[in-house]
Amino acid sequence: MNAGIYLDNHSTTPVDPQVIEAMLPYFSERFGNPASRSHAYGWDAAKAVEHARELLANAIGATPHEIYFTSGATESINLAIKGAAEMYRSQGRHIVIVATEHNAVLDSCLALEGAGFEISVLPVQSDGHLHMDELRAAFRPDTILACVMHANNETGVIHDIRLAGAVCRSNGVFLMVDAAQSFTKLPIDVNTTCVDLLAVTGHKIYGPKGIGALYVRRKNPQVRLVPQIHGGGHERGLRSGSLPTPLVVGLGKAVEIGMGRMDDEQVRTLALRERLIDGIQTSLSGVELNGDRNLRLPGNANLTFHDLDGSSLLAGLASLSVSSGAACSAADVQPSHVLMAMGRTAELANASIRFGIGRFNTAREIDGAVKLVIETVERLRKRRLAAT
Ligand SMILES: *Cc1c(COP(=O)(O)O)cnc(C)c1O
Repeated sequence: MNAGIYLDNHSTTPVDPQVIEAMLPYFSERFGNPASRSHAYGWDAAKAVEHARELLANAIGATPHEIYFTSGATESINLAIKGAAEMYRSQGRHIVIVATEHNAVLDSCLALEGAGFEISVLPVQSDGHLHMDELRAAFRPDTILACVMHANNETGVIHDIRLAGAVCRSNGVFLMVDAAQSFTKLPIDVNTTCVDLLAVTGHKIYGPKGIGALYVRRKNPQVRLVPQIHGGGHERGLRSGSLPTPLVVGLGKAVEIGMGRMDDEQVRTLALRERLIDGIQTSLSGVELNGDRNLRLPGNANLTFHDLDGSSLLAGLASLSVSSGAACSAADVQPSHVLMAMGRTAELANASIRFGIGRFNTAREIDGAVKLVIETVERLRKRRLAAT
């Protein structure tokens, strides 16, 4: 398959070959159910699962029994938000979130609104940042939970979780952090940042799809959640269902590799990102970077191309795997709620492209992408000029 240059690493990443290698035995000869307590197959699988749990815990400064495996960040977020809402509803029914959160957060809260909860959605500044005064001001006596994502999936903009955590802790509000994009790419320690719930996923960090985890603080203060999936009582009763041992092992391996390479990969992907932005902006005028240039994921560039028709842009870049500032759901095309929250018009949001540079991208690929973008944009602008 020659599908062109892959620059959509915020959408998903290829599985690292070392991760595949680590997973393989757990599909075949080491196939036991980690919940089988009475024989060696079960013990072997359980040992592998607990090793992965330890790797995840160590990566964020948690203890292993604060880590719960799920099917991905969407499930982790649903469990965190709905589980906390159900547990603490007698203490309050107000939740605070940021306008640029992922749909998993937005829609979980929308579902809660139907169940009698009130949601406050905080605005962001034009550079994508949340002003912490907004967070502080949004709190009420009945606020139980705040959700502030670590790094945004469209713009890569990084929120100051330490500050958000301090504000939440001093107001007695739990903080849930969606770290799907930042995990193993930016350091985070749940204790120094006062994070109470943290959601991660395997397939954004060179691990497999279908596996994720939720960190749930166990003390100072303890967070309790009402389970959202019932059954055999796996994961200490919080998330029933037999664990997919190969995927858990793969997630653990992905975390081990990612943590080991974090510093090197930050430097490398940042250099590639700057090469991409500079390459495009040197040759083209009317190209604007969305989001703070520095406080963003090193591999992210989200660019708006002025003076052209957004829908033809993505089509023109067909040999490049990137995402546009428009989310296609079934039939209709919606401008990105993230770019709209940053004050962009629908037209400009639709003329925006997200480039996500990852572990396996090369400088040569970046140069190829730059060339293609320049050619495509120049062609579209000429056509538009001719039409007017
Ligand atoms: C991808 C992503 C999710 C959803 O993760 P899944 O594992 O695909 O369910 C949630 N939040 C952010 C910020 C993401 O990038």
